[in-house]
Amino acid sequence: MHIDVSKIKASPGERMHLELEAPLPSLEAGGERVEFTGPARASLEVSNTGKALRVEGRLKAQLRPQCARCLEPFTMPVETEISETYYPEGGGEAAPDEREEWIPFSGDVLDITPEVLKSLMLVLPMRFVCREDCRGLCPRCGRNRNLVSCDCPGEDVDPRLAVLKDFFKSK
Ligand SMILES: [Zn+2]
Ligand SMILES: [Zn+2]
Repeated sequence: MHIDVSKIKASPGERMHLELEAPLPSLEAGGERVEFTGPARASLEVSNTGKALRVEGRLKAQLRPQCARCLEPFTMPVETEISETYYPEGGGEAAPDEREEWIPFSGDVLDITPEVLKSLMLVLPMRFVCREDCRGLCPRCGRNRNLVSCDCPGEDVDPRLAVLKDFFKSK
């Protein structure tokens, strides 16, 4: 995801609004690689503070992780905010302590992809679960209990699935 800042980078006080759409690389979460289903969208305000360029706004993306319980892939929307400051490399007057959090840039284009990914990752859950009441896989036979009920001992049968259970038994 890139921002062309040629129009405002030399004009302190200047700001612009941007709607961006760009594909993102897959990210690593919970020990696995997770793909985006399509381009991420950003609604951004970019302003020249005199010392640096501030990028603030909202991000929207959709991921396709695998459910930790039933192992089925599912679609998960993610929405969050971004707020970053970019300073011109070798220029500007930022104090050293400010620069620790600021990101250097050169030329006319900011590549905000790493910060977009970072912001999205901050709001991801520790574990991906397709839905709160996902019944997961049967620990004994490995069947997806959202779809079928099995005869394994120690399992309570959801009455809504009892019909399915008989169906599979007769096969
Ligand atoms: Zn699940
Ligand atoms: Zn089972």
